[in-house]
Amino acid sequence: MRTSDEIRKLAKDEKIEYLRMTFSDLNGALKNIEIPVDLLDEALNNQIKIDGSSIAGFLPIQNSDMYLYPDLDTWTVYPWIINGGKTASLICDVHNSDGTPFEGDPRFVLKQLDASLAEIGCGHLNVGAEMEYFLFQADEQGRPTVDLNDQASYFDVYPADKSEACRRETINTLKKMGFAIEADHHEVAPGQSEIDFRFDDAVTTADRIQLLKLTAKTVAVKYGLRATFMPKPLAGVNGSGMHLNTSLFDGSRNLFDDPKADHGLSSLGLHYLAGILTHAPAFTAITNPSINSFKRLVPGYEAPTYVAWAIANRTALVRVPDGRGPQTRFELRSGDPSANPYLAIAAVLAAGLDGLKQKLTPPKNVEDNIYQMTADQRKSQQIVQLPASLSQALTNLKQDAVLNDTLGIVVPKYLELKQAELTKFQLSVTDWEKQTYFDA
Ligand code: GLN
Ligand code: MG
Ligand code: MG
Ligand code: MG
Repeated sequence: MRTSDEIRKLAKDEKIEYLRMTFSDLNGALKNIEIPVDLLDEALNNQIKIDGSSIAGFLPIQNSDMYLYPDLDTWTVYPWIINGGKTASLICDVHNSDGTPFEGDPRFVLKQLDASLAEIGCGHLNVGAEMEYFLFQADEQGRPTVDLNDQASYFDVYPADKSEACRRETINTLKKMGFAIEADHHEVAPGQSEIDFRFDDAVTTADRIQLLKLTAKTVAVKYGLRATFMPKPLAGVNGSGMHLNTSLFDGSRNLFDDPKADHGLSSLGLHYLAGILTHAPAFTAITNPSINSFKRLVPGYEAPTYVAWAIANRTALVRVPDGRGPQTRFELRSGDPSANPYLAIAAVLAAGLDGLKQKLTPPKNVEDNIYQMTADQRKSQQIVQLPASLSQALTNLKQDAVLNDTLGIVVPKYLELKQAELTKFQLSVTDWEKQTYFDA
């Protein structure tokens, strides 16, 4: 744990001029209030105030004062200069005016839930995220387009991969910010990249997802490009996923690992997995938060459409990748990078926790291509469908008592936000409709 004095020294040594106090709204947008470094003491004393009524999913207008409590361990110097002035950021928890933590703060929700694992003797959660995104060209005014910058494909090497230089600078920037990068590569679709960084505890990984998205977007602009984490920007090619790899550890012991058991998975691991499968139709509303998310979850593009688990089969929702012992983990393949990372990880953890508490058992693993199965074959193997639309997913979430109880007040607030989004979409007329129905 860093102390206030250490932060004061870091700010001085690094000649920081501005401080960005950041937090995330319910949609997962990174927000900040910027202060000159002269106000560092106020910031360290939790005195920086925000108006919670203008933040998606936060407070009503009649009761809107909130305070930012910086997490000193998140101190990060931005390696880029914003129009002059060296800037550092602190990720903050949001508190009510009486000093209590705000229960609608996604970071708080994840923190609470993470702490509850230890209370039931199930160690702590480690999460690793695989971040996929697209780089598109910007037009002369710097506005984003969906014009591609390369026609490269999975694992391609320069000169096919014109995004390589941009991705490399993104990686170098992330490394300066303290990321342990594990891999980066061109993804399957043209214009698509992936960056993987080393797993860490749940809150740290969620914080890093937010920083990674900011960094990828910031660096892309330098290259005349725009980075997007929307799940399906182009029809007919792969969309962008955010695979979440999770494991439970007690000290240095991986609790999912059991070399003597089937597939090398402990019974605790199977309970956790069963919880994930049970609540997947409901938590999809959080891991896949937009109308566009469901255009990615269709057969044929390496994104799951059915609830099943597998060892090697990439058509399943959960995979247990190679590597046991300390590496034993479940890879949830459905989530996408537009999700609020705090809420997404919290929802998946809430599902796993329920599996542990109820000692649920998963059905048998499915190693055949699920996209090609008949309805009867799926039924005989207890394979249910993931929701096919945001509307269906929201209904599932609303009806899932366990997720509602465990995640608390954020669920009804989230449902309200998303319902409003659906209504807006319902009232819009798309280009596709004009093309298809104009002369019909
Ligand atoms: N892009 C795919 C998805 O939508 C994943 C492809 C991969 O990582 N092999 O999840
Ligand atoms: Mg990957
Ligand atoms: Mg990938
Ligand atoms: Mg993966």
